[in-house]
Amino acid sequence: MTIHAVLIGEHDDPAGWREALAAELPGLELTLHVWPQLSEDAERISIALAWKPPPGALAGLPGLRLIQCLGMGVDALFDDPELPTAVPIARLHDPDLIAQMSEYVCWAVLHHHRKIDAYLESQRRRRWRPLPATDAGTCRVGILGLGAIGSDCAVKLRGLGFPVSGWSRSAKTLDGVDCYHGRQGLNAMLPGCRVLVCLLPLTPDTAGIVDAELLARLPRGALLVNIARGGHVVDLDLLAALESGGLGGAVLDVCSEEPLRIHHPYWDHPRVKLTPHIAGLTRPTAAAGQIATNIRRVMAGQPPVHQVSRERGY
Ligand code: NAP
Repeated sequence: MTIHAVLIGEHDDPAGWREALAAELPGLELTLHVWPQLSEDAERISIALAWKPPPGALAGLPGLRLIQCLGMGVDALFDDPELPTAVPIARLHDPDLIAQMSEYVCWAVLHHHRKIDAYLESQRRRRWRPLPATDAGTCRVGILGLGAIGSDCAVKLRGLGFPVSGWSRSAKTLDGVDCYHGRQGLNAMLPGCRVLVCLLPLTPDTAGIVDAELLARLPRGALLVNIARGGHVVDLDLLAALESGGLGGAVLDVCSEEPLRIHHPYWDHPRVKLTPHIAGLTRPTAAAGQIATNIRRVMAGQPPVHQVSRERGY
């Protein structure tokens, strides 16, 4: 039997996906189409491998048995008003992506903690100017979202000597991490955080959560690291907090509009570091194993692993 799958939305390596999936599915014949080049095959498609699919595209596939997101965040799927309601949605839970995300967070925290901006400025001015050493133990990092990525970051930052606090929807216990939940918990956590890392899923509950009120609760000069989604941050509030000096800096891998428009103030703000949504990139060879497992499961009538809750939105 041939299984028909389709790559849909933003992706750049159909040949890589074909090769990686074939290696993980010995004995199974998988034909991987690329949307929208489907012609009469649309009815035969049972698996959609989706990243930011165009609205309505998935609704045009009547035989779907699985919507497999090619990333760890599924907010773009839920933006589709015609998202099929009866098809299970699975997200990636990819150790390779998680490791990349934690690398990025550790880089941002260490860059801030070791005052690298000041040293780069000294270098630019040809000044040999050592600054006093600071203790990682005094630089508490707060993490919004203690899920797959947030909890990995917490462990790695602890390993580097940073005290870590974390915030989640439900109560949690994580070794060596001060855990908070609920709005009151968030308000209690923020004043202690010299760095705040956003690793929440984007849902109606979390959209715009990084606003003036939240930023005002951080200690003066704190650093914000947002590698979750641009929609978590109220841009005007962030710019105002930077302007007032309340916030010391921001490291942003994601923006409310991507690509960021050319005249946006983030581009040349002296205290904003911007990267183009690259903190964690899906690699076909790393992700194909989990996707192959899900293909086998749904074709055998079982639910996929890492199925997303439509009710929670993540
Ligand atoms: P996850 O495993 O689903 O964990 C989400 C965490 O957020 C959980 O701890 C959850 O609490 C918490 N949470 C959700 N809603 C909340 C709320 N209303 N209040 C408080 N806490 C809440 O997610 P993940 O895999 O770690 O990924 C996090 C996000 O990173 C993704 O959704 C995606 O947007 C982003 N991401 C970005 C990139 C990039 O390249 N920049 C790459 C990958 C992922 P509970 O534990 O109580 O459920």
